[in-house]
Amino acid sequence: MHPNPLDGRPVIVGSGLAGLLTALTLAPQPCILLTRAALDGPAGLGACSSSAWAQGGLAAAIGADDGPALHEADTLAAGDGLCDPAVVAAITAAGPHVIDALARHGVRFDRAASGGYALGLEAAHSRRRIVHAQGDATGAEIVRALSVAVLATPSVTVLDGTVLRRILLSDGQVCGLVADRHGSALTIRTGQLVLATGGLGGLFRDTTNPLSSAGGGLAAAARAGARLGDLEFVQFHPTALAAGGPSIGDASLKLVSEAVRGEGAVLVDESGARFMENELAPRDVVSRAVWRHLSDGHQVFLDARACLGARFETRFPGITAACRARGIDPVTMPIPVRPAAHYHMGGILVDRDGRSTVPGLYACGEAACTGLHGANRLASNSLLEAAVTAERVADALAGTSMRPGPAGPHGDEDAARPSGASLSQVREVMNRHVGVLRDQAGLEEAVRVLAPLAKADDPALIGLMVTLSALGRAESRGGHFRTDHPERAPIGLRTGLTAAEAFQSAAPFTQPRRLAS
Ligand SMILES: Cc1cc2nc3c(=O)[nH]c(=O)nc-3n(C[C@H](O)[C@H](O)[C@H](O)COP(=O)(O)OP(=O)(O)OC[C@H]3O[C@@H](n4cnc5c(N)ncnc54)[C@H](O)[C@@H]3O)c2cc1C
Repeated sequence: MHPNPLDGRPVIVGSGLAGLLTALTLAPQPCILLTRAALDGPAGLGACSSSAWAQGGLAAAIGADDGPALHEADTLAAGDGLCDPAVVAAITAAGPHVIDALARHGVRFDRAASGGYALGLEAAHSRRRIVHAQGDATGAEIVRALSVAVLATPSVTVLDGTVLRRILLSDGQVCGLVADRHGSALTIRTGQLVLATGGLGGLFRDTTNPLSSAGGGLAAAARAGARLGDLEFVQFHPTALAAGGPSIGDASLKLVSEAVRGEGAVLVDESGARFMENELAPRDVVSRAVWRHLSDGHQVFLDARACLGARFETRFPGITAACRARGIDPVTMPIPVRPAAHYHMGGILVDRDGRSTVPGLYACGEAACTGLHGANRLASNSLLEAAVTAERVADALAGTSMRPGPAGPHGDEDAARPSGASLSQVREVMNRHVGVLRDQAGLEEAVRVLAPLAKADDPALIGLMVTLSALGRAESRGGHFRTDHPERAPIGLRTGLTAAEAFQSAAPFTQPRRLAS
């Protein structure tokens, strides 16, 4: 086996905001950025990332009437008792700095007439603090600018068309990774591996995420022994565009932004009747109302005809185009919608420098569980978290010497093979039993289906770990709602789970059932 000339450098996996900014902050220290995107594709580095699809913007307390303490209080309120207050304080305080840092890397945020940044208002924020770009294309602008900067930074070696499959360990420490590069196994020896692999919405049939956001990084971390945290907390967006007929499930659902309801659009069913009083209630409340109405056999639509009419097209050009591509004209027709998995509050448990429980393994962005979000994410706090945690990880890496990692096993072709044979089955099970409304019977059924698949299949493993965490939380809080335990427990505890613990907990569900004698 010939040594790989790339051996020894820190490796960052994922080219959304978190991965790109980690690489840029680390410069001029050499690093490798591993991305599944094809660099010759039209969208380049940022393709396949949620970052590129982010619409609303990035929360930062920079308004004259605002301050980090107010942002901190709003974040704690959304997190429903499960945030880590020290992390919330640190990340919200870093908002103004992050905007400056991104602007220095070339991000062109929208400006107000006064010359300062234009600030939007979103639900549950007590001040206008959403910094945005090109109206509703904030993520695309951030990813564009950072991609240009990364490609112009000689210390970053980009390996495109490359998907992380397995983490290699020696004596419990990271010593390398195995990836699938254009269909062949690639082994890189490194003692410093950063997972910036995003969320897991793609594990659900209905999702607003890229379908490749299916928890692949979490699975690799879990199989390496890392502890994952707050896994049961998935945020479901109430109004994903439910058009596409039978093909729903084969593609991501386009987001119909909360801002449409902010303009006065109402939720109606097939008879045109409204079924909830306040369409601007918190996201999880609206999601549950829509889910229940759909489960009762109704169709659900977002009707913007009276409030916006012809103005819809100019106010929401992106949503208009997506609707029209599916044969719906939002100016003259109600838009069919349904809840969809949108954001994962949980992830790889990390400390304030992004260190996981496995030496040498770091995580940042949506893949990490920092304690910022607790049981529910405050809108637009995720781009902020991705940026702040990327910088923290880069600083932590910069303080350590570059090393190839201890000698250890080499990966083989088998380790590089895709491990998602049962993805469509996992998506159906997660959607049905681990979605907006959960109960013990449904969660146990999901464990019974997922557990036998999870040893060999990455989506099934992460689906199983999310399900077991949801089963263990016999209360309703934030994004997690149990119809059999609708109350909130007096004391909220955070959860953590390793793959080994998950297999142990699932074992009783996979025993053959005994017939009563
Ligand atoms: C439609 C939509 C709108 C949103 N709007 C907002 C908003 O307005 N404000 C806000 O704050 N948040 C928003 N969010 C959430 C936000 O976009 C994400 O939380 C954030 O961008 C996550 O950044 P990230 O870099 O951690 O992950 P991502 O941007 O998802 O990037 C992850 C990267 O890792 C890659 N990857 C994954 N697994 C592997 C693997 N095994 N090998 C190699 N590469 C891998 C992916 O392909 C991708 O490049 C939105 C999300 C969606 C889906």
